[in-house]
Parts: sequence; C-alpha cells; structure tokens
Amino acid sequence: MDHFQLKNGVLHAEDVPLPAIAEAVGTPVYVYSRATLVRHARVFREGLSALDRPHLAFAVKANPNLAVLSVLQKEGYGADVVSGGELTRALAAGMAPADVVFSGVGKTHAELVQGLESGIGQFNIESEEEGYELAAIARRLGKTAACALRVNPDVDARTHEKISTGKRENKFGVPLDRAGAIYAALAAEDGLDMRGVAVHIGSQLADLEPLESAFTKLGALVEELRAAGLSVTQADLGGGLGVPYKPGDIMPSPADYGAMVARVTKGWDVRLTFEPGRVIAGNAGILLTRVIRSKRSGNGPPFVIVDAAMNDLARPAMYGAWHDIEAVAPSGNRMTSHVVGPICETGDTFAMDREIDALTAGDLAVFRTAGAYGATMASSYNSRGFVPEVLVDGDRFAVVADRIPADAIMDAERVPDWL
Ligand SMILES: *Cc1c(COP(=O)(O)O)cnc(C)c1O
Repeated sequence: MDHFQLKNGVLHAEDVPLPAIAEAVGTPVYVYSRATLVRHARVFREGLSALDRPHLAFAVKANPNLAVLSVLQKEGYGADVVSGGELTRALAAGMAPADVVFSGVGKTHAELVQGLESGIGQFNIESEEEGYELAAIARRLGKTAACALRVNPDVDARTHEKISTGKRENKFGVPLDRAGAIYAALAAEDGLDMRGVAVHIGSQLADLEPLESAFTKLGALVEELRAAGLSVTQADLGGGLGVPYKPGDIMPSPADYGAMVARVTKGWDVRLTFEPGRVIAGNAGILLTRVIRSKRSGNGPPFVIVDAAMNDLARPAMYGAWHDIEAVAPSGNRMTSHVVGPICETGDTFAMDREIDALTAGDLAVFRTAGAYGATMASSYNSRGFVPEVLVDGDRFAVVADRIPADAIMDAERVPDWL
C-alpha cells in the first residue's frame, strides 16, 4: 500500500498534486511519501510482534537521504551501514550509535576506526582477516568492538544474480564450514566481543524458502558455537524481502516473514536484528519525469523520450528491472511504446513494447517503486546533474536534497596549469 494515488484525475503524493512539485522543483525529481515510509516501517515491525525486542536497522544503502533516515529514526529504527559515509549519515539523522550495525566486505582501516570511535552497536565481520585488523585497532584505541560474524550459508536466494549475496561464490561472509573455527579464534582476541552471527542472502527475494534455509543453517551454527563453549547472544537475519514492481508480483508479507522467523528461531535465546531496506522504502518513492518528445521508429512503437535517464534511475539498465510507468494526468487512452531517456547508450531504456498511458511531449509521468536503490545509485553520466529529492507529508512538501547541476560538478574539476 502506498500514498501515490489519483485524485480528481491527477496523481498525488499524499495530498500534494505531483504537477505542483514539478512546477516548484523541476523534473526529473524523486518524491517520497512520509506516510508510506511510516506505514511500511510499522507493518514490518508488526510482522515481528511475536519476537522479543527485535532490533530494526534500516539498510541505509536503499535510501540514504537524511530526511528519510530521520522519518525512520522517529519510528525507532537504527541503521545498517556499509560505509563510513553511511555511518556519518545515520548519526547525522539522529540514530543512536548503539543502534548502528556496520556491514560490508571491504571496510577500510579508516572506517573501522570511525566505527569504533563512534561507539557503534555491532560490526558484522565478513572475514577472519577483518576480525584481526579490527581487534588490533580496538586494542590500540583502548576500546572493545561488539561483533557478529557474517556467514555465507551457501543458499540460492533465487533473485537477480547481481543482488544475490549468500552463495558460496559470492564475496560476502565466511564459509559456514569454517565459521565455528573463525568465531572461536576471534572470540579469543582482546579488543573483540564476539556476540553472535549474521546472514544476508540477497535482495528482492520473492520467496521465503531460501531465507528459511539460511536461518535454519544459522540456528545450527548457534548450537555448534554454544556446544563449543562460546557465547552467542545476538543473531542478525539481514534484509532482502522483495516488493511488488509490476502488476501480478506477489511478495511474502512481513506477517508471513515474521511467522516464519518466529518458528525457525524458536528457542535460539538471542536478540534478533533485521536489516530491511527495499521493503521499507521501495514503494514510498516515485521518480517524476517529463516527456521531452516522442519519436517515430519505422513501423514499430514510438520512442517516448523522457527527461529522466539511466544515470538518475539505474535499475532498469543495471538489472533489467521493471518500473511501472504512469501518466500523472491520464487521459484514459493507452499506447504501446518504448520509453527511453536521453543518454547516449541503448541501455538507457526503461521499457520496450510496453502498453502505457498515452503520453506526448510536455506530459508528466512517474516511475513507480523508485524509493529504494533509486536516487542513491545516481551518477552524473553524460554530464547530467544529480536529481533533487522531495519529501511529502500530508499537504506539504519540502526539498530534502537539492538538485546538483552539472556545472557544480564541473566546479570540482581542475585543468593543471602545466597543460
Ligand atoms: C543491501 C543490504 C540489506 C538490505 O537489503 P534489502 O533487500 O534492501 O532489504 C541488508 N543487509 C545488508 C548487509 C545489505 O548489504
């Protein structure tokens, strides 16, 4: 459920007509609904109501905008971060350091120091090597790093190969069959407080079965560790729940997910952490765009050229992903067309041979489900600027990220005087 609905024939974000935003801010522009973010945050939490005090850490990489993080902070969410930059954002948005989990396979020395000095609640260690480095830094700083060991459970998440993270050949975590020995070795290190285990097998999961299989393996590991006399008080089950992108997509509900988790983790006697990203933010955002012009293409459908492009919304070019496309003021007529951006790459294509609302030059349209992995993946390719972001709350809205024009990006460049 989201708050982007037609009212009197015009698509609104909550109570704000999208043409008002296009007029005030220009296009393309990302628009987020606070009510939808809050709703998703609560529905996810309610799905886990059978669990004792679950810790919810929003995966910042899905949508790192400070205003979005602030909405979730007010809903009691902490953060799962994967870089020093994301850690800085989470803290700037008011999240308590203790509520921050630091994941990522390539945390640099500087990032490990930053995490320790910030006093974050948990490092998810992704290799034995990282564990020893963190231990050495912690000893030098006179601190103790609270840690979980991320394991690679070798399950097929049955999602797009570029967002699968839990197969043996993926770079993430330590192999399950070595996890016991690595955990024991790291637990013996001064400077580390090994508290538990973590998994995250991938994103946009349409099926609970791979998650259940990963969690079951994690439960066996918890038993193995305790049998070896090691302490385990935490288990981090990652994120990954999918969201519907196109009509007919059926995704597991947070309630079904929560019921599965409660069943599988019964008796673990740990505090559980969750790292949802897409399921919170995906349907809470749209990318608002304007049609530049249409172009005939031989006998085929016309190309509808919009002012948003693959640098603004990368998922279609990167993953072949589908985003629903709708007119902001639909006439009721439909047409089959290709929808493309202006960038000089054939990959800058949002839809081929798709039946959509009839669109002509000057019309406004939206790409739906762009609230996660949207603005955050933007680049300035083709010397295009960065798209602004707007947060709507009822009948008001605010620009929560300015447009960064192409010339501002150019201002950071220099031609050396020896040229
Ligand atoms: C990306 C990521 C998430 C969030 O994944 P979603 O599919 O957006 O829920 C959670 N945890 C880790 C470690 C991640 O890398």
